[in-house]
Amino acid sequence: MKKHNFYAGPSILPQFTIEETAKAIHEFANTGLSLMEVSHRSKEFVAVMDEAQNLFKEILNIPSGYQVLFLGGGASTQFAMVPYNFMNKKSAYLNTGAWASKALKEAKNFGEMVEVASSKESTFNFIPKDYEIPSDADYFHITTNNTIYGTEIKEDMNVNIPLIADMSSDIFSRPVDISKYVLIYGGAQKNLAPSGVTFVIVKEDALGKVDRVIPTMLDYRTHIEKGSMFNTPPVVPVYAALQTLKWLKNKGGIDVMHKMNVEKATILYDEIERNKLFKGTVTNPDDRSIMNICFVMNEEYKELEKDFLEFATSKGMIGIKGHRSVGGFRASTYNALPKESVEALVLVMKEFESKN
Ligand SMILES: *Cc1c(COP(=O)(O)O)cnc(C)c1O
Repeated sequence: MKKHNFYAGPSILPQFTIEETAKAIHEFANTGLSLMEVSHRSKEFVAVMDEAQNLFKEILNIPSGYQVLFLGGGASTQFAMVPYNFMNKKSAYLNTGAWASKALKEAKNFGEMVEVASSKESTFNFIPKDYEIPSDADYFHITTNNTIYGTEIKEDMNVNIPLIADMSSDIFSRPVDISKYVLIYGGAQKNLAPSGVTFVIVKEDALGKVDRVIPTMLDYRTHIEKGSMFNTPPVVPVYAALQTLKWLKNKGGIDVMHKMNVEKATILYDEIERNKLFKGTVTNPDDRSIMNICFVMNEEYKELEKDFLEFATSKGMIGIKGHRSVGGFRASTYNALPKESVEALVLVMKEFESKN
């Protein structure tokens, strides 16, 4: 039976990425060696790193003055690297979920962290809109897509201080006006590559403004200077990321991808709305994520939750169990997920409705 992969992360990747990476693991670039056993300083791998950085810039339309880095440590290391490199005395954070909470917790170690707003009291089921950003903060940090709760900030905001974003789970899903940000980062394992590599887009002239000593590995300038080769980069994930970028370009780029993502999300949100068994968890439709779609059973059908999960799983729907803090279901509809998978899930929802 065909499996439909709705995992939140690590998650579905293009078949092209998997096949090309598998080939390179057997033999890489006519070297007679596996990708896993060549020096990261070999000319063949240096070419991969260069191409990945260039294609990343091209696809996202990154203006000059910005660098793209591929690092280890996951998005979670960025939670500390951000204040290390950008925070002198004060920073501002929008608390829209568990990842945002972890990010702001790190900032507290570096001085005054102002939480401008939070939706924690309602299980992060909306994006706060009314808040003031202190003009004397060194930066404002947002999490554009809240993977666990299915909310998303879909527009690049205008703020009066440097803007920093965790885009782990919506990078490459929509066009982004990079010039509005000084730094964007994320773990690659949601929409780009297998786990193990973290991408960073950084505006070079925004760096070097803090007084503290920064440990070498945690200083963005170290990695800019060495082209993400200061230490051994995650070679296989970077190679896989390059394949996904090639696939993306081949598909028509970000605008085409965005259109497809909106289409997939709309199909599923419409069914959640229509189906008598289910309801969405995100209150304001404007805040609904196009990458992680969260829904629960309506009150009167609550006892069917386990049955639906079993039924859907038996039909090949993988990874739709909601995060434990939200419950219910979550279907992640990343770039590589075909529309057919969303349609298959909708059919399963309809079938289950007619049986109940
Ligand atoms: C998954 C995720 C993270 C954590 O990424 P790691 O690479 O595991 O550290 C952080 N932020 C968001 C929004 C995520 O979805």
